[in-house]
Amino acid sequence: MGKLKVGVYGITGCAGCQLSVIFNEDEILDIVELVDLRAFPFIKEVNPEEEFDCVIVEGLVADRGDLKTLKMLRRNSKMLVSLGACACTGCVPAYRSFTLKENYEHLLYRKMEEIKDVEPTPLDAHILVDHYIPGCPPEKKEILSFIKGLVRGSIPRPYQSPVCVECRQNGNTCLLDQGKPCLGPITAGGCHAVCINGGFECWGCRGPTEDMNLDLMVRMLRDRGFDDKFINDRLRTFAGLKLPMLEKVMSGKAHKTETTFRGVRVFYE
Ligand code: SF4
Ligand code: SF4
Ligand code: SF4
Repeated sequence: MGKLKVGVYGITGCAGCQLSVIFNEDEILDIVELVDLRAFPFIKEVNPEEEFDCVIVEGLVADRGDLKTLKMLRRNSKMLVSLGACACTGCVPAYRSFTLKENYEHLLYRKMEEIKDVEPTPLDAHILVDHYIPGCPPEKKEILSFIKGLVRGSIPRPYQSPVCVECRQNGNTCLLDQGKPCLGPITAGGCHAVCINGGFECWGCRGPTEDMNLDLMVRMLRDRGFDDKFINDRLRTFAGLKLPMLEKVMSGKAHKTETTFRGVRVFYE
């Protein structure tokens, strides 16, 4: 049997996820060895009409061109993977959904009328996603381990324990205990708590855990003196579209929430 045909594509994004694949020489060589890499923006010409066993997509849907490309990729691929926070949760670009147009349009676009934009949304708002590799940018080793699993026929399940687990394993002093707004308790780990290791709080770039306790997270931030505007802004920066229940939690109308990248279950009082 020949190698699996794999393609890497980018729609609207900063290309950081794709760079995180090729900036590690050993890993890109491993990937080229393991699969038939048919498309990669920095290496091979991209042909979105090609047929793949697996296509890995960076970026989010931000205009009609993205949507057309994404639907074509989905049609032509047996498996589709969201690569990075933009693709998985909408990341910072999707924060646009929570602010007024006049706050950003003059900063972003000189010729607004030429841009056929749509609401910035992660891939699974439009098509079925088979696997998620979260993070901004994603972990290089996680990309490699996904590809190895793909070749073996046993893809590893994404890490689901909160960032706090790896953070404690690393022996860090808790930033939340020091009054800093760390989102580690509700954020899926797998990044080895890299930000906290460096003295910065977690902003939630890997998206919420499936069984997060958002209500408790909000209460812990309030107890540390953060106001509701700050809490809303911080929680929405990387994964706001995956927290549609936030408003109800903030107003005390929902007491327990569970989320997955694809769906959300909310338990109301
Ligand atoms: S997830 Fe981060 S690194 Fe990847 S495209 Fe989006 S902004 Fe760039
Ligand atoms: S610093 Fe953040 S990630 Fe680490 S234990 Fe405290 S809350 Fe959790
Ligand atoms: S610590 Fe939080 S913000 Fe930093 S990489 Fe991990 S999930 Fe992302």
